[in-house]
Amino acid sequence: MLTEMLLPLAWVATLTAFIFSLLLYLKALMAPASALAPGGNSGNPVYDFFLGRELNPRFGSFDCKYFCELRPGLIGWVLINLALLVQEAELLGSPSLAMWLVNGFQLLYVGDALWHEEAVLTTMDITHDGFGFMLAFGDLAWVPFTYSLQAQFLLYHPQPLELPTASVICLVNAVGYYIFRGANSQKNTFRKNPSDPRVAGLETISTATGKQLLVSGWWGMVRHPNYLGDLIMALAWSLPCGVSHLLPYFYLLYFTALLVHREARDEQQCLQKYGLAWHEYCRRVPYRIVPYIY
Ligand code: NDP
Repeated sequence: MLTEMLLPLAWVATLTAFIFSLLLYLKALMAPASALAPGGNSGNPVYDFFLGRELNPRFGSFDCKYFCELRPGLIGWVLINLALLVQEAELLGSPSLAMWLVNGFQLLYVGDALWHEEAVLTTMDITHDGFGFMLAFGDLAWVPFTYSLQAQFLLYHPQPLELPTASVICLVNAVGYYIFRGANSQKNTFRKNPSDPRVAGLETISTATGKQLLVSGWWGMVRHPNYLGDLIMALAWSLPCGVSHLLPYFYLLYFTALLVHREARDEQQCLQKYGLAWHEYCRRVPYRIVPYIY
């Protein structure tokens, strides 16, 4: 039974991440200074092992971070979900509506990430953070085994879900996805080609680096609209599990903390990159993630 194997598999994934990061750390000792991550070469071996000393470690043309960011963890997550759905079908005769929703929503999220794979190249993980234990553990162990908690919960705590409630939850997920995809695509399109007709009409602020910042459209609503969409989807993934238990809401709580911290780090980096222009952006778009609240 997969459920009995989940804990041992999670341990193996953690051990794999540990050994892998150790090899990456040793490899990074021989890497040229230009290949090191800004935050991961403090000279303290434990700190550098954890944060990652080298920015984008490669073996030949195989880019370890690019591969791990999207493939094993995300695909492992949907496979675990699917196996739990099949196990539930064996137990109950057919999968529950709640299990279908959780599987469907998360499959959409993973499919979207893989479909827009090249967009990961402009994320902080790739451009700024080193590849050490933190990211390797996150990609190989944390994502597949904790992001599937809702499906794991449903297997042991079947939830009756009526069609009207399910429709409202689907609507919440659709709104989240619409904001998430709209914001990410708008920024990616703009960064690739600011004259693209889909973004050419948007208002912008010029910066001293020559790059521009969007100040209308999704990026004029809050400074991180993509995080807002992501959080709304996180809520929709928990709702099919009911409100009797906190466990299915673990992802929402953890993810809120992660994105609030990530947003603060990104603001710091943008302030360094764009100085006065960033101050002007913050003045024109005062809210970080949730309009009129935060
Ligand atoms: P973002 O995609 O939000 O990128 C931030 C960068 O965008 C900034 O550094 C800046 O870079 C650029 N930017 C910021 N404001 C503007 C603006 N107004 N106009 C134009 N460019 C701007 O960062 P992340 O890498 O954190 O997130 C990517 C996606 O991944 C998000 O949707 C997030 O929700 C998701 N995510 C999901 C996680 C999960 O576990 N499920 C974990 C982490 C993230 P520059 O100016 O240099 O282009």
